[in-house]
Amino acid sequence: SKVKVAINGYGTIGKRVADAVSLQDDMEIIGISKTRPNFEAKTAAMKGYNIYAPADKIDAFTKDGYTIAGSIEDMIKEADIVVDCTPGKVGVSNKALYEKEGVKAIWQGGESKDIAPISFNSEANYADALGADFVRVVSCNTTGLCRVIYPLDQKYGVEKVRVTIVRRGGDPGDIKSGPIDALVLDPIKLPSHHGPDVKTIMPHINITSAAIKAPTSFMHLHVLNIQLKEECTADDVKNLFAARPRIQMIADGISATAQIIEFGRDLGRPRNDMWENCVFKESVSVDDGELYFFQAIHQESDVIPENVDAIRAMMSLEKDNLKSIEKTNKSMGIGL
Ligand code: NAD
Repeated sequence: SKVKVAINGYGTIGKRVADAVSLQDDMEIIGISKTRPNFEAKTAAMKGYNIYAPADKIDAFTKDGYTIAGSIEDMIKEADIVVDCTPGKVGVSNKALYEKEGVKAIWQGGESKDIAPISFNSEANYADALGADFVRVVSCNTTGLCRVIYPLDQKYGVEKVRVTIVRRGGDPGDIKSGPIDALVLDPIKLPSHHGPDVKTIMPHINITSAAIKAPTSFMHLHVLNIQLKEECTADDVKNLFAARPRIQMIADGISATAQIIEFGRDLGRPRNDMWENCVFKESVSVDDGELYFFQAIHQESDVIPENVDAIRAMMSLEKDNLKSIEKTNKSMGIGL
């Protein structure tokens, strides 16, 4: 029988994980939780997901015409594993409930690394999560960094990574974040948390990072400079990246994040999601033993396939990470 997955927190990440899990033949969504009867609750109902709500909010939903399957506690009791997609620093308050009900749990990158003994990336450390009870799938930026640093380190050895991240100010549906017109040093004190976060997956990597928030909602942009231990050419790196399962080499006249999103729309992708790292092919250069390139990261979607793989590892459905990655990619249309 299929693994029973619950989604606690049905926002930007939660709704995408729900749809991705629904595409798998070895797992199924038994329910999603909503705290308010808003438009996301409406689409969840239209898609046929069982909706659960906090016990004291169920009345508000039924008054609006929703059929509620039960409380969030009821949903957790039904599940083999819960994917916690509540806002950053909220997920930690659910840990006691998951422990009490003896259910496995995945948290997202907005939680502290201490929430779970394992931080997860499908390519770099899948095996660490085999059979694990608690795992944190790292943030969109950390996922994007791991996907390029891991294969470079395997092939050439990484001496030192320097990355500057131009971060999107808020997601497209977010009406509270900003800036509207500024470049914000966030944080002003260096390094940013992104470099240290990569070390939760690959502790031996020497990396430093800086981050700037910009008035855009589409994607993050990484400016990378990597010193390698062994010599290689720009073509070597382009070939290495092109062969990875979750890197897309962006060309065809694209030189901006907005064009990548338009490309995603033209490809007919759900919610114009670009699940792969989008490496600008022409930017890849090697100078005096140092590699430079730009990559864009679609913050709303790159961690979604990683959540599916994390479920597969934790539930011991597949031991080989490349097989899980291939299965997830094929089901979602990643790499097409
Ligand atoms: P979001 O605000 O879009 O969605 C969170 C959802 O959880 C909302 O629907 C909210 O109503 C609901 N919620 C709030 N409190 C709840 C509770 N106590 N119980 C159940 N549901 C509750 O947030 P998001 O962007 O999807 O982020 C979720 C997590 O994923 C965070 O840790 C975040 O850092 C991480 N993440 C976000 C992005 C991104 O770009 N949006 C990328 C990668 C990782």
